[in-house]
Amino acid sequence: MINEKFDAIVVGAGMSGNAAAYTMASHGLNVLQLERGEYPGSKNVQGAIMYANMLEKIIPDFRDDAPLERHLVEQRLWVMDDTSHTGIHYRSDDFNEAKPNRYTIIRAQFDKWFSRKVREAGATVLCETTVTELVRDAKDKVVGVRTDRTGGEIFADVVVLAEGVSGLLGTRAGLREMPRPKSVALAVKEMHFLPEEVIEQRFGLKAGEGCVIEAVGTISRSMAGLGFLYTNKESISLGIGCLVSDFAARMESPYVLLDTLKNHPSIRPLIAGSEVKEYAAHLIPEGGYKAIPQLFGDGWVVVGDAAQLNNAVHREGSNLAMTSGRIAAEAIVQVKSRKRPMTKQNLALYKTMLNKSFVIKDLKKYKDMPTLLHTNSRNFFTTYPQLMSQAAQNFMRVDGTPKIDKEKATTTAFIKARSRWGLLSDVVRLTCAWR
Ligand SMILES: Cc1cc2nc3c(=O)[nH]c(=O)nc-3n(C[C@H](O)[C@H](O)[C@H](O)COP(=O)(O)OP(=O)(O)OC[C@H]3O[C@@H](n4cnc5c(N)ncnc54)[C@H](O)[C@@H]3O)c2cc1C
Repeated sequence: MINEKFDAIVVGAGMSGNAAAYTMASHGLNVLQLERGEYPGSKNVQGAIMYANMLEKIIPDFRDDAPLERHLVEQRLWVMDDTSHTGIHYRSDDFNEAKPNRYTIIRAQFDKWFSRKVREAGATVLCETTVTELVRDAKDKVVGVRTDRTGGEIFADVVVLAEGVSGLLGTRAGLREMPRPKSVALAVKEMHFLPEEVIEQRFGLKAGEGCVIEAVGTISRSMAGLGFLYTNKESISLGIGCLVSDFAARMESPYVLLDTLKNHPSIRPLIAGSEVKEYAAHLIPEGGYKAIPQLFGDGWVVVGDAAQLNNAVHREGSNLAMTSGRIAAEAIVQVKSRKRPMTKQNLALYKTMLNKSFVIKDLKKYKDMPTLLHTNSRNFFTTYPQLMSQAAQNFMRVDGTPKIDKEKATTTAFIKARSRWGLLSDVVRLTCAWR
C-alpha cells in the first residue's frame, strides 16, 4: 500500500485526530491520517456546539473560512414535566463580540474543512481506510498499523489513536477496556430544516445569532438523560441521550424518547413545519475521571472520546477532544525534536502536559460520573420536575386562594413526595457525588 515510514500515523479524522494531525504536520512531521469514513465527518455526530477557544489554540484565524452556523447569544436550561417547562434563560449582547466564544456547527461540513487544513499543513489523509490492527515489534512496541486495504502494513514512530468512543482498535489491542454500559450514553438526533428567517423569528434572534436549549425532566422517563435543541443557520438539531445501562435496564427505546421530546408542547411549536432530513445515533463517553484508560505506551497515545475525555455534566466533548489531540501532538513534537525514541517513558510527557490542562482538571471534579448521574435519578428526572411545575403553576394561578395557603400547599407537596429527610438526603447525596 504505502512503503514510506511516517513520523506519526493518526487513526481517525474527527475533532481529536484532526487536531493532532494538524499540529504535528504544521511542526514539520511527516504524518499519515487514516479515516474509515467516505470523507472526514461522514461518520461523526455532534449536537453541535463548538468552543472557539480550543480551536483558536490550533488554528487562530479559523473564523476566516470555517463553516460556522450561528454564534450563541442565549442558553435556556429547562426542567420539564409532560405539559410544561420551568426555565432559566441567559442571554447577553456581550456574546455578540468580535470573536464569539461558542458556535453551532454541522460536523459533516466542519470536519471536511478541518481535514482540508490538515492536508494544507502537509499531512497525507486517506479516507475509506479502516485500521484493523496495530503492528508491534518483538519488544511489543507499536510500530505501525494494518488496514483493510490490500498491501500490508504501514510503519510509523508513533500511532495516535483518535478513533472515537466506539473505536475497536485500542480495545482489541488490549490498550483499554470496552466502554461499560454505565459509562456511555446513547444519543439520537434529528435535523429539522426551516428557513433562516423563521428560526430567527421563533427564537428572537438577529442574523448569525444562535440559541440553545438544554432540557431535563420527564422526557427521559426517570433515566439519567438530557434533551437538546441547537439552532443552526437553516436547521435545528434536536436530540436526546441517556446512559446505555438505563436504556437496557428499563427496556426503553431512544426513538420513543425523541418522539416524546418532539411532541412536547414546549418544543413542538419551535420545530413546526420543518422538514426532517437527517437522523443519527451515536455514543457519548460519560464515565468521568475514573473511566480514563492508560493514555500512552510504547509507540502509541490515545486522545479524545477514545480516551473517555468527555465532560458530560457540562456537555463538552469536542473541546476536550481538540485539546487532547493538540497536546498529544505537541508532546510528540517535543520528543521528536529532542531526538528521543517514542517510548512509553518519553510519551509520558503527553500525560504530564494534559494533567496541567482544563481537560484533566475538569474531569477530576467528576471522579465517578455514572454515580453522579444515577444519584436518585427518578427523583431528579421525574419527581422534582413535576413538583417544580406544580409549584410554579400554583404560584401563577390567581384563583382567590390566599397566598399563605398556596405556600403551604407547595411545601406539603414536596414533603409528601419525598419527606423532609428524603429531600435532605437527596441534596446531601447529590452534593457528595458532585464533589
Ligand atoms: C448527539 C451528540 C451530541 C454532542 N454534542 C456535543 C456538543 O454540542 N459539543 C461538544 O463539544 N461535544 C458534543 N458531543 C461530543 C463530541 O461529538 C465528541 O466529544 C467528539 O466528536 C470526539 O471527537 P473524537 O475525534 O475523539 O471522536 P470522533 O469525532 O468520534 O471521531 C472518531 C473518528 O475515527 C474514525 N475511526 C474509528 N475507528 C477507525 C478505524 N479503525 N480506522 C479509521 N478510522 C476510524 C471514525 O470514523 C471517526 O471519524 C456530542 C456527541 C453526540 C453523540
